Amino acid sequence: MTKPILLSTPHMGSDELKFVQEAFETNWIAPVGPHIDAFEQEFCQVIGASHAAAVSSGTAALHLALRLIGIEPGDEVVCSTLTFIATASPITYLGAKPLFIDSDRTSWNMNPDLLRETLAKRSHQGKLPKAVVVVHLYGQSADLAPIVEACNEYEIPLIEDAAESLGATYKGRSPGTFGQMGIFSFNGNKIITTSGGGMLVSEDADLVTKARFLATQARDPAPHYQHSEIGYNYRLSNVLAGIGRGQLRILADRVAARRHNFGTYQQALGKLPGIEFMPEATFGRATRWLTCLTVDPDTFGVDREQIRLALAQQQIEVRPVWKPLHLQPVFTECECIGGAIAEDLFDRGLCLPSGSNLTSEDLARVIQAIANLHP
Ligand SMILES: *Cc1c(COP(=O)(O)O)cnc(C)c1O
Repeated sequence: MTKPILLSTPHMGSDELKFVQEAFETNWIAPVGPHIDAFEQEFCQVIGASHAAAVSSGTAALHLALRLIGIEPGDEVVCSTLTFIATASPITYLGAKPLFIDSDRTSWNMNPDLLRETLAKRSHQGKLPKAVVVVHLYGQSADLAPIVEACNEYEIPLIEDAAESLGATYKGRSPGTFGQMGIFSFNGNKIITTSGGGMLVSEDADLVTKARFLATQARDPAPHYQHSEIGYNYRLSNVLAGIGRGQLRILADRVAARRHNFGTYQQALGKLPGIEFMPEATFGRATRWLTCLTVDPDTFGVDREQIRLALAQQQIEVRPVWKPLHLQPVFTECECIGGAIAEDLFDRGLCLPSGSNLTSEDLARVIQAIANLHP
């Protein structure tokens, strides 16, 4: 039977189990404990952030970030359109409405010019959005400098969704550390994983303290369980934080392995007519969390869906690039500024198997399967 090759699977190192065992031996099987504190500190060191709160998912971290900014029903929040639903769903948890912005071709992320124009226009109309959520897609940072500048000009808080881009850089620094808050994910398919988990980071200690408070049912400092606000149960387990500590130690290896996948694919397939790989913007280093490419069906001979189906028959999992959020049935009421680039990337874009644990035989099988489709 043919071995399935999946898109992105967990890849444990040698320390994770040791940390988990430690949690068992000390009976810290709870959403508090020494691994959580250490994971938060070590995470800050790795990405160069000042404060971090470990939580149960990246989505939870985004929800907390928006709540801390004070997003309310009826507010408008700017959001990248080319992304996974979790970038935008927390906006709707708070009763606010996303305003989507198209990508640029250099990074596939939010187009800073469109953001600036949109904020200028909204300012003119006297109804500025309450926040901007920018995503760093597939391991590549958005062009942060002009985005930060536009947000500063209109005094709008910036939240960075760096769920897919832990280990990347923008001008030498980690994305997620440029906005008022940044969030990361340790879901099973991400570059490092705790099976499920997330992190909220900020330079502002008060925001992170408040995030922990809200993530722990917003319990006032009283012995009798008093609550003046409604909170959530969003804290990460100490057991899972142990996995995270182990994973964090080998992040650089995982980035190297994913970049190696990309290089191997690009070398073998990059010269085929109609195949173009996701560019790496000059302002930073991408992790290549997922290797993405676009297919021009007229030149290549088959389209991305035919490739996907042919590879699925050979037990190789490939996926289309994210369907833009402005095309999602749940967001038909929401406005999108531009959208043609995100739509084109969705129509022609494909994500290849990209796990850091793929073997050279796995990569060769994927390459052969795609090359065979070119007439
Ligand atoms: C995975 C992901 C999230 C959500 O993270 P979870 O930990 O799965 O909740 C948010 N945004 C993007 C872009 C993601 O890829």
